[in-house]
Amino acid sequence: GIRLQALTKTYGRVSAVDGVDLEVAVGEFVTVVGPSGSGKSTLLRLIAGLEAPDVGGVWIDGLDMSRVPPHRRSVALVFQDYALYPHLTVVENILFGLRVRRVPRAEARRQAGEAAEQLGLADVLDRYPDQLSGGQRQRVALARALVRAPSAYLLDEPLAGLDAQLRLSTRADLLALHRDLGATTVHVTHDQAEAMTLGDRVVIMAGGRIRQAGPPQEVYDRPADTFVAGFLGSPP
Ligand code: ATP
Ligand code: MG
Repeated sequence: GIRLQALTKTYGRVSAVDGVDLEVAVGEFVTVVGPSGSGKSTLLRLIAGLEAPDVGGVWIDGLDMSRVPPHRRSVALVFQDYALYPHLTVVENILFGLRVRRVPRAEARRQAGEAAEQLGLADVLDRYPDQLSGGQRQRVALARALVRAPSAYLLDEPLAGLDAQLRLSTRADLLALHRDLGATTVHVTHDQAEAMTLGDRVVIMAGGRIRQAGPPQEVYDRPADTFVAGFLGSPP
């Protein structure tokens, strides 16, 4: 699981993340939603160790991460822009996820093949990213995270940039994957509909702070304030 305590990150005069306390249980799927600039990506970057907090801390599986560099944290961050290597094929991109684990080559290829199979990529292993659809690229990024067998997945707007049809099918993929793996997941989106349908719990952020957290239906039915109500479109 993940535990955040008083997590704070300031850029100049902007409090990107401002005193966030949050616990994500093992196997839980949490969706973080909020307007642009509310601190969602910064929150994930702090968990992944790509940014250091000014105040507060991150614990993963009970371990204090304050001195643990990003590559030694057992989390996998998937960005909205996929960040695939354009000069590497699909299978090479997936294998890149295993580099940090020093897995022997034959075993690495077997694991990469398995992840590709799981995500419906078996037929495109030797293609380059520019020969794939947006949804396929997204799945390569997920497969690369998958082979690292992290204890938590951090997904930053993984469905952004996909058309409506693909968003729906990839959303279903994400949920199925989560069910299969029972993986702890923090999923960031600014799409209210997505927050309502994906995840056990929704966390509403604004101005770097958590405004409300709870099961989606509960938050929708009983918004804590007018901001949350307006953002989720709760009935008055
Ligand atoms: P979006 O939905 O647009 O992706 P977000 O919720 O992910 O937004 P963040 O990217 O976390 O928001 O940014 C939170 C705030 O911190 C914003 O005001 C942003 O301009 C600021 N910020 C983020 N990263 C930096 C940085 N490296 N330098 C300066 N300011 C930053
Ligand atoms: Mg963002």
